Amino acid sequence: MSTSTLAVQGGTPVRTTGFATWPIYDDLELNLLKEVLESGKWGGAGGSGKAGYKPKLPQMEEQFAQLHGAKHAVSVVNGTVAITVALQAAGVRSGDEVIIPPYTFIATATAALAYGVIPVFADIEEDTLLIDPEKIEALITPKTKAIIAVHIAGAPANMTRINEIASKHGLVVIEDAAQAVGASWDGQGVGSIGDLGTFSLQSSKNLNAGEGGIITTNNTDLWQNAWSICNVGRIPNGGWYQHEKLGQNYRMTEFQAALVLAQMTRLEQQMQLREQNAARLEAALAQIEGVKLLKQDARVSRHAYHLYMFKLGPELAKRNVKDEFIKRIQAEGIPVSAGYVPLNRNVAVLDATEAWTGTRTVYECPVCESMCADEVLWLTQNVLLSDSQAIDDVAEAVSKVAKSFL
Ligand SMILES: *Cc1c(COP(=O)(O)O)cnc(C)c1O
Repeated sequence: MSTSTLAVQGGTPVRTTGFATWPIYDDLELNLLKEVLESGKWGGAGGSGKAGYKPKLPQMEEQFAQLHGAKHAVSVVNGTVAITVALQAAGVRSGDEVIIPPYTFIATATAALAYGVIPVFADIEEDTLLIDPEKIEALITPKTKAIIAVHIAGAPANMTRINEIASKHGLVVIEDAAQAVGASWDGQGVGSIGDLGTFSLQSSKNLNAGEGGIITTNNTDLWQNAWSICNVGRIPNGGWYQHEKLGQNYRMTEFQAALVLAQMTRLEQQMQLREQNAARLEAALAQIEGVKLLKQDARVSRHAYHLYMFKLGPELAKRNVKDEFIKRIQAEGIPVSAGYVPLNRNVAVLDATEAWTGTRTVYECPVCESMCADEVLWLTQNVLLSDSQAIDDVAEAVSKVAKSFL
């Protein structure tokens, strides 16, 4: 049988071996975890553990802040709570509105809805899949208090324009950088460009602590607010039973900080590998008729390549063949996925919004909706950590499947 026979039709798949395994760890994780275990200091507050033990959370927070050029970092239980806390720290209240993109993980919306902050959806740019700054101003009402820019797949949103619009209208800017550890816009680390940044350390993200989140900021007042909210309303350097504002216990453990410290030692090398592989894949995909690459603004000084996203070209997009395209590529042994569905139409988000406001409002986001339905394809986060043969196999499979549609 010819190698061009599709695997879905009984042909030989392009790839029969897997991709890079994830998570990645070695003795460093083992040693640091053992150190935490034996120190007796397992939690994030109270007690200092065995004599001589240096708590890992403050070290990790300091390094993480530094990595993004931020003055402060507060660790929290996960990336979803990080967004809720960032909104609360910035003074966003129940009933206020926050402008977010519809092309993101559901947590960007639910983190707001968790306490009655209403997500308002600004459509995305067709070329980047990031929030379109030019769609923001028309959505601003007297209730609008914040914009959450999401750096989806690790590509920074247009922070220059977003900050400009926010300052004109007196809005807070939060960067949801859950997928963008290590990325930068115009030379500035994500999470340090808006008023606050939020990150996720959930197991699929580029820094893996199993679960976890981080809030970053350059503003000392916002840092204090965020810290208090995560520490049952205590204040930094205050008394144990001195609770000055409403807070919860959102603290991470020392074990998670140990994992992050270890994972951070490999981050730069992994980022470089992701960048090299993305460039290799990009060069190959650019030659294939039927697919289209995303564009990158020249001010994206570093892309974190958490995911690799590309699109079907206009001809195939018009034919509504995305699902069949994915089925054929998957059969070739390549983990391609359909990605997000438009959050502006998600039933849970619409129901929760209606419950808080009493009205059911659907924000139209035609670009996002057609991208989700007919165009965008993802490669999962471990693919770009594989070797160059794996990348060539991805390109070969895409080429083989694209040809089958032409
Ligand atoms: C993963 C993710 C979150 C939520 O992080 P968790 O740690 O899973 O709570 C929020 N926003 C985006 C864009 C994400 O990818």
